[in-house]
Amino acid sequence: MTGQTSTVLDELGFRYEPDSLYQQVISDVLDTGQQIDLPHQLQLILAQPKNEIMVHYPVQMDDGHYRLFKGYRVQHNNILGPYKGGIRFHPDVSLDHVKALAVLMTMKCALARLPLGGAKGGVQVDSRAVSYDELRRMTRRFTSALGDNIGPNHDIPAPDVGTNAQVMAWIADTYINLSDARSRFTGQAVVTGKPVSFNGSHGREQATGQGLVYIVTELLPELGIEVDGCSFSVIGYGNVGSWAARLFAQHGAKLRAVMDHTGAIHHDAELDTVALAEHVEKTGGVAGFVNSESISVEQFYRLELDLMIPAALEQMITDKEAAWVGAKVLAEGANAPTTPEGDRLLREKGVTILPAILCNAGGVSVSYMEWRQNRDAVQWEPNRVQEELRFYMNAAAQRVKLAAHKYNTDLRTAAYAAALEHVGQVYALRGIFP
Ligand code: GLU
Repeated sequence: MTGQTSTVLDELGFRYEPDSLYQQVISDVLDTGQQIDLPHQLQLILAQPKNEIMVHYPVQMDDGHYRLFKGYRVQHNNILGPYKGGIRFHPDVSLDHVKALAVLMTMKCALARLPLGGAKGGVQVDSRAVSYDELRRMTRRFTSALGDNIGPNHDIPAPDVGTNAQVMAWIADTYINLSDARSRFTGQAVVTGKPVSFNGSHGREQATGQGLVYIVTELLPELGIEVDGCSFSVIGYGNVGSWAARLFAQHGAKLRAVMDHTGAIHHDAELDTVALAEHVEKTGGVAGFVNSESISVEQFYRLELDLMIPAALEQMITDKEAAWVGAKVLAEGANAPTTPEGDRLLREKGVTILPAILCNAGGVSVSYMEWRQNRDAVQWEPNRVQEELRFYMNAAAQRVKLAAHKYNTDLRTAAYAAALEHVGQVYALRGIFP
């Protein structure tokens, strides 16, 4: 290994793999740990997840044949509280990615000061290519394969790429049906992001996009950019990207371009964020949207805008894309959308990066509220959720600014520093068992 983390990762016998997302993320986190003098034993603990659960399970498909699925749940750290993090259904799901995303959940919950740990799960499947019934059977069987590895006081999944409120409802129902009679009532808190009518929380669906909008409206003026009239682009028009765009447009910001797996579209003045969400819902992508011109990927990145919001998958912005980027600020809606080389190049170019663990902490913050509502058997008014989300996001933004000042560093390192300081304090208080 190269860099400051060499001692910890070498000690654990890591072999350097440049394409490993886990190594990229954990190296960043541990480098920050060195900078803030996080004790060596805590760096060792954080360098590997506590548990890596891998399951293979058969599901009968509609045509009668059986398919074997591979699913993961990685529980990175639970010093702050029960493990928490989404479940992803995507063909590219791998142990390496799920581990990286689990670390980011530990960091995200710590930065937002939620009493929750970090985890992530996933199944290798293209959720668009299976039928509704197949998706339901696959979800239920995955839940039963995970068994007691999840639970309302232990590990609480949520939606992520390729999963939604319906999938969460099936997980909760399966878990409840497998529980003994005495714990059935509390079983619903095994997942968050459920439909509002089945004990979900108001505001959870748009929470990640809403949280991102709280962050950018707070930080852009400090970077000399007016929110009203701010020009922006979005990568990915799924849950995070489309809600961020719709809610940001309500502040007078102008969506100029969007790119997804179907292509890139652009409008000189403004794309209609709401009509575009309907178009994507109907057709599956942004291509062919009325009142827009189609542009190339390179043209998309080169647009000279105030803000770009990558809200799709990881590692999209490598050094190649970073060289093209014409935006002044990047607000990471997706987890880890920028590779280390891309990140370095963007910083050299003077692009300000608002890091993922800050920008997309809104989803898990409202998940935390949903979990609390479930435990109390109540449902809060939408305004209460909004107010509390605004509080959590602003407090996290302040912590990042303070850490950037204290350690004289970029905002990503500052966000990790603010998260690790908290993890370090709690370890110091609790000690390491026994
Ligand atoms: N999957 C989301 C994330 O990456 C939400 C996690 C949660 O709500 O537990 O932050």
